[in-house]
Amino acid sequence: MVNSKIQAAEENLLHVYNRFPIALDHGKGVYLYDMDGKEYLDFAAGFAVSGLGYGNQELSQALKDQLDQLYHTSNLYYHENCGAAAEALNRVSGMDRIFFTNSGGEAVEGALKAARKYAYSRKSGRFEFIAMKHSFHGRTFGAVSVTGHDAYREPFEPLIPGVRFAKFNDLDSVKALVSDKTCAIILEPLQGEGGINLATQEFMEGIRKICDDNDILMICDEVQCGMGRTGTMFAWQGFGVKPDILAMAKAIGNGIPVGAFAMTQKVADDSLCAGDHGSTYGGNPLACAAVRKVIEIFEREDIVGHVNKVAPYLEKRLDELVETLDCVTLRKGKGLMQGIVVTKPIAEINQRTIKEGLLVIQAEGNVIRFVPPLIIEEKHVDEMIEKLKRALS
Ligand SMILES: *Cc1c(COP(=O)(O)O)cnc(C)c1O
Repeated sequence: MVNSKIQAAEENLLHVYNRFPIALDHGKGVYLYDMDGKEYLDFAAGFAVSGLGYGNQELSQALKDQLDQLYHTSNLYYHENCGAAAEALNRVSGMDRIFFTNSGGEAVEGALKAARKYAYSRKSGRFEFIAMKHSFHGRTFGAVSVTGHDAYREPFEPLIPGVRFAKFNDLDSVKALVSDKTCAIILEPLQGEGGINLATQEFMEGIRKICDDNDILMICDEVQCGMGRTGTMFAWQGFGVKPDILAMAKAIGNGIPVGAFAMTQKVADDSLCAGDHGSTYGGNPLACAAVRKVIEIFEREDIVGHVNKVAPYLEKRLDELVETLDCVTLRKGKGLMQGIVVTKPIAEINQRTIKEGLLVIQAEGNVIRFVPPLIIEEKHVDEMIEKLKRALS
């Protein structure tokens, strides 16, 4: 049964993922269950998406109700949730104007277009982007163009011209690339795919200053590190360094496909206007119902407060691995976005974690990435560490 389903997928889907040989059936809390009923403790959250975990009845009910009521209208009309979702997301992200997309890549794409339009409106002649090495911004052409990873770029070249790559956490390397053609600097405050690399306070402040001094826009891609994961609603708030444009997705819909890019009013005044950008599905009633309910639950349940309670325990238990196991050399990250550098091949470790009933993902630099649902408790951390130790032994 299960094998025939995997086989049907293998024979019909384009092979662009190295899938694990398991077929998932349902989830509850921080656990997923495959079609044979085997339980997996999930420290991947579908790539940092399922912040509220699985089977949240309040969220499911809100989505079911919305499905029955209305789930598509087109953006020519308002609907009940579009204002409410935008207002909530602006409030928690500190931005002023939102555009809803269907994914993180589209959010980045829109952010880049918004920055180009800002320069165009002001006739500044600026069009270049400075991005970071080891960054990841998605798979669309614009997003790939600012992704600092050759393997993701080379097969698709030539990409968008005018992108330069600086060294993350190295202000001088950024300054060396700034010119009167620079329109925006894009970065993840905490790089995910690139190996769980946290920006320093100095770097964030320095980027902000370079932008302010040179009429350059600062774009933060918080598709992965946003929405409570680092212990503030959005990672920029932890630095107190506010971007001009913010890209979001992943956890804002807890798995319903929705992303957004947002900007300050100052940028919006000179940026995208009617006819410049659009999306048939972006911000549809179902996506907005998801965002609205997810934020409501985050605020009522103080999910961010919970992250700050449980994250130090995860850090402590991971630090113990660094101290006690030769094959674990470093822990890095912030909040519930953590990584450990290991010296054994990750593919092998992954085979063993799957056997142990634990889901983790990798990141660049032989890093095991931990991005669990934000609702994990200390007991889940303990269970994860036990399983991981066996997989590493
Ligand atoms: C996942 C991710 C993206 C792309 O999001 P998609 O929804 O897969 O298009 C962009 N930026 C960052 C930082 C991400 O982690």
